[in-house]
Amino acid sequence: MSDPSDFKRTMATALSTIEQLKRNGLSPYPRHYELMYMYSAGTNPALNKSVDAILKLRGTITAQELQEIFDEHISQGRIGEKIEAISDKIGYQIDNTMSLLSETAASTKDFSAALTRSRSDLRQSGSADDVGNIVHRLTEATSKADSVNQRLAQQLAEARQHIADLQQNLETVRYESLTDDLTTLANRKHFDNSINRATREAVATGDSFSLLMVDIDHFKRFNDTYGHQTGDQVLRLVALSMKQTIKGKDIACRYGGEEFAIILPNTDLIPANIVAEQIRNAVMTKELVKRSTGENLGRITISLGVSSWHEGDTPAEIIARADKALYAAKRGGRNTVRSENDPDVINSEKVA
Ligand code: GH3
Ligand code: MG
Ligand code: MG
Repeated sequence: MSDPSDFKRTMATALSTIEQLKRNGLSPYPRHYELMYMYSAGTNPALNKSVDAILKLRGTITAQELQEIFDEHISQGRIGEKIEAISDKIGYQIDNTMSLLSETAASTKDFSAALTRSRSDLRQSGSADDVGNIVHRLTEATSKADSVNQRLAQQLAEARQHIADLQQNLETVRYESLTDDLTTLANRKHFDNSINRATREAVATGDSFSLLMVDIDHFKRFNDTYGHQTGDQVLRLVALSMKQTIKGKDIACRYGGEEFAIILPNTDLIPANIVAEQIRNAVMTKELVKRSTGENLGRITISLGVSSWHEGDTPAEIIARADKALYAAKRGGRNTVRSENDPDVINSEKVA
């Protein structure tokens, strides 16, 4: 950092950031720090407005609210910026490669002209000296073309490598934009894309797929008792249990807050129920231990609703039936699985 006034300003923002974190009882985790730093620096007015609205209402802000504001104002915007930067670089590489190619064309043309000239000179040559001169010129033209081509080949190889790197960056950004940060499961956007695709494929092939909707039981109570950060650990644990149970082409997503959805391609209702039971069991049998203190937090349970694609179904209809089954599972006492064909699901009206 060269500019002393810049150093002073950044330091003042850092101190005010720490002050804000303290005042709100928040740990200076990188993400909390980053958001509060942006707030203190005032570089993102929309973000400041969201934080101020909460501070005005209650005086403090929670980690969850902070996370939501982060997602709303920073993550998506940042992904957009990253994509824009990569697009710019790819555009530059395309221009670069095109000019290299036109240089190659020019150099090839020169070389070909030199060959044609030598050919006609050769026809008219009468002495060993004449032929000697032609050979000398040809040698020069060949070695010039050779060195130009070598340089171009090297530059083209570099351009190809740059483009491959950019492609990799783009893949990473694409992955980030479809992944839930907390659980590393697919996010809601990925879910929406996936269920639309699964429906299209089912229409095309006639093969059914199933959907599980998952909701943690009494999670509000858990959060209220042990705190939001421990709650977040539970979300990760449930996500892990799902990941460890599903396989291959199955897609597990964070549908929202403490709700998850799993798409099981080429799977009918009965096998889908078996997967649901396995996940329920995997979550229930995990003992929760608080990392920081080693305190035993008991166990957590989940409820699941299962539906399968029927001919003519839209994604919204499959989701609605899995949801209805999930509500029946809650009404049925929680820590249980219900499918769309169970009598208490068929005879129920979903209460949202
Ligand atoms: P039920 O058995 O009926 O599902 O009860 P519940 O308490 O789980 O249901 P409710 O919908 O009332 O509460 C959901 C709670 O989930 C509220 C909120 O505290 C918590 N929650 C939602 N998203 C997150 C998150 O990202 N992190 C944490 N820690 N908690 C979350
Ligand atoms: Mg819920
Ligand atoms: Mg719940």
